[in-house]
Amino acid sequence: MGNGETMASWNRGKSAAMDWLLAHIDYAGDECLIWPFARIAKGYGELGAPNRKMQYAHRVMCTLVNGPPPTPKHQTAHSCGRGHDGCVHPRHVSWKTNGENQLDRRIHGTINVPRQRLTVRQVEEIRARKGLETQASIAKRLGIKVACVEHWQRHDRPPIRLRP
Ligand SMILES: [Zn+2]
Repeated sequence: MGNGETMASWNRGKSAAMDWLLAHIDYAGDECLIWPFARIAKGYGELGAPNRKMQYAHRVMCTLVNGPPPTPKHQTAHSCGRGHDGCVHPRHVSWKTNGENQLDRRIHGTINVPRQRLTVRQVEEIRARKGLETQASIAKRLGIKVACVEHWQRHDRPPIRLRP
């Protein structure tokens, strides 16, 4: 999906896979959401749409949740590191540049938090809004990345020192 395209360009209702994605935009389960349809050899879900070539399911989900990629070079990153298992969890995907994505992969399993300046108060708010507001909405309101919200809602205690 190219930069600037809108979801209106998708022909809803003609693709069971697209309907499934749309039905799971607000999915809030703790576990990864595994794509139940066709997957390519590497394990990533694929999505057919009328008059379009195949799309990666996680990329379409990321667009639905976070909007179009900020630049054509942005990739869909998985905070869970399970893209190859077909995860399309709306809260596990975010746009990252290749460099950011590589960094994530390197540090995955230890800490996975965007290097952003947050106050203790912001972190408290992020946690307080868990389940009450979408992560994309919180991120937009606070002017931070969705992955950052996802991180602070997932971990009970901060793995890194907070700046005042
Ligand atoms: Zn996942």
